Amino acid sequence: MNRKITIAIDGYSSTGKSTIAKQLANKLGYVYVDSGAMYRAMTLFAMNNKFVGPSFLDKESLLQNLEDATLDFQFNASLGFAEMYLNGKNVEKEIRTLDVSNLVSTIAAISEVRKKLVAIQKEIGKNKGVVMDGRDIGTVVFTDAELKLFMTSSAETRAQRRYDELIEKGQDVSYEQVLKNVLERDHIDTTRKDSPLIKADDAIEIDNSSLTKEEQFAMILKLVEEKLRNV
Ligand code: C5P
Repeated sequence: MNRKITIAIDGYSSTGKSTIAKQLANKLGYVYVDSGAMYRAMTLFAMNNKFVGPSFLDKESLLQNLEDATLDFQFNASLGFAEMYLNGKNVEKEIRTLDVSNLVSTIAAISEVRKKLVAIQKEIGKNKGVVMDGRDIGTVVFTDAELKLFMTSSAETRAQRRYDELIEKGQDVSYEQVLKNVLERDHIDTTRKDSPLIKADDAIEIDNSSLTKEEQFAMILKLVEEKLRNV
């Protein structure tokens, strides 16, 4: 297992992409990159500067100020993964709110935003040994990834998972609000012009609606081991 590969994990919201990506990265000693966190941080930047809100988008001002948003990941050893920083500030908590979730797909549909973030993602992954999750990792960011996974599960299962997570974090949301957000993001992410969420031809589809986390991890680890034997 000396040669490192690139693992691209795409799929709909709340399909457990980040859980599996973190598990794989820890197991293999790879870098884990949550590309959704980058789109969320850009959304927070736009919200903080009043470039976007529930009923408006000032795209021109956002584009004029795009360079003022600096994104970094900093590894948190006690958590075992890298946290998202926006202009030097840890924004992990702020980017996971429903307010950000409700606007992120609008910001992620803007080509100039995607261009900026994809360039950072490619740079992080240029030496391989990376597990990245998102919507366009196998189709745009790492088209040559050795292993591409496409995760799916029913909207209701995904909304329930996200609802449980938000409640555990103490947020005041209803299941219906979360389901609405999941469905809206699915729609915007799959129908946008630039880099829509779509399964890459060479991706392996995994429907995890009825898999436990352990079953899923064992199954995917087998796929990784097969790939590593063949590189
Ligand atoms: O993965 P997560 O649900 O945190 O992603 C939040 C949003 O960021 C997605 O709904 C999508 O609009 C956007 N995104 C994207 N491309 C990626 C990762 C996320 O457009 N590679």
